[in-house]
Amino acid sequence: MAIWNLGSINIDHVYRLDHLPRPGETLAARSYVQGLGGKGANQSIAAAQAGAITHHIGAMGATDDWVVERLKNAGVCTADILRLPGQATGHAIILLDGKAENAIVIHPGANRAIAPSMLAKPLSAIKAQDTLLLQNETGCQVEAAKAARQVGARVIYSAAPFDIDAVRAVLPYVSILAMNAGEAEELFAAMPGDLPVMGLLITRGAEGAEYRDLTTGTVHRQEAFPVTPLDTTGAGDTFAGYFAAALDRGDPVPAALRLAAGAAALKVTRAGAGDAIPSLEEVIGFIS
Ligand code: ADP
Repeated sequence: MAIWNLGSINIDHVYRLDHLPRPGETLAARSYVQGLGGKGANQSIAAAQAGAITHHIGAMGATDDWVVERLKNAGVCTADILRLPGQATGHAIILLDGKAENAIVIHPGANRAIAPSMLAKPLSAIKAQDTLLLQNETGCQVEAAKAARQVGARVIYSAAPFDIDAVRAVLPYVSILAMNAGEAEELFAAMPGDLPVMGLLITRGAEGAEYRDLTTGTVHRQEAFPVTPLDTTGAGDTFAGYFAAALDRGDPVPAALRLAAGAAALKVTRAGAGDAIPSLEEVIGFIS
C-alpha cells in the first residue's frame, strides 16, 4: 500500500505590511517569511507524517533544492519530482496587512507545465491497493486519475481551487471527492443529483467534517477539536492527507475522520502551511 500524490509545489513568500499597497505605491515590508506550500506538497507532507509511504509526483524549477530537502525531511519520497529547466517553481506572493485583509498572487509555473509524457514512470508504478491523491493545481489530472483507476487504485480528488470543468473532467475516475463547505455548495449547485463516486468528504472548518458513503448511504460525522486558531492555511490539506493515509493503512472511516480532524486542529494552532503540519505522535497525543 502506498500513496501517490500528483500535486503542486509552491514556495510561499509571506510579507507583513502596514497596509496593502495601492496602485503605483512602493512599500517596504515589516517582515518576510518564506515557507513551503501548495496543496499538493501540503497533502504529501500530511500523508507522510501520518505514516503512509508517500510518493510526491510533481514538477518544479531547476533551483530551490531546499524544497526537495524539506519534503524528504518530512518523509516524502521525492524521486518522481521533475526539475524543469526554464520553468519557475510555483510560488505565491502573500501580502498581509496585519488585520484581516490579504492579497495573494500565485504563479503556477512548473506545476501546470507537467505533460502526460513526463508521468509514464510513476503512473505505471501505481498498484491496485494504492491511493492516488489529486488537487486542482497541476496539469494531467485526468490522465493520472484514469491510469490509477484502470489498475483499481483508490483516487481521492480535492476539488480545490474549485473549477466545475476540472471536476467534470476527472469525476468519472474519482473514488472519493474531497471539498470544503464552500466548494461543496458550488458543486451541488452545478451538479444536482447523484454523483458517480463512492464517497464525499466535506470539511466545514470549526464545524468539523463529514464523510458520505454513497455506496451505503451512511453519513459519518466528526466534530472539530476545539482550539484557538492562529492560521488556517493548509487545514483542509492536512485533513485530506491524514484521512488518505488512515484509509491506506486500513482504518475504518470514523477513525480516519477523527485522526484527520485532530491533525487539522493542531495545524490551525500553528503559523505556516507545509512546515506547520503536525507529526503522527503529536496528533495521537492530542486526540487521546
Ligand atoms: P479548507 O482549509 O480546505 O478551507 P476547512 O476550513 O473546512 O478546509 O478545514 C478543514 C478541517 O480543519 C476542518 O474539517 C476541521 O477539522 C479543521 N479545522 C479548520 N478550522 C478549524 C478550527 N477553527 N478549529 C478546529 N479545527 C479546524
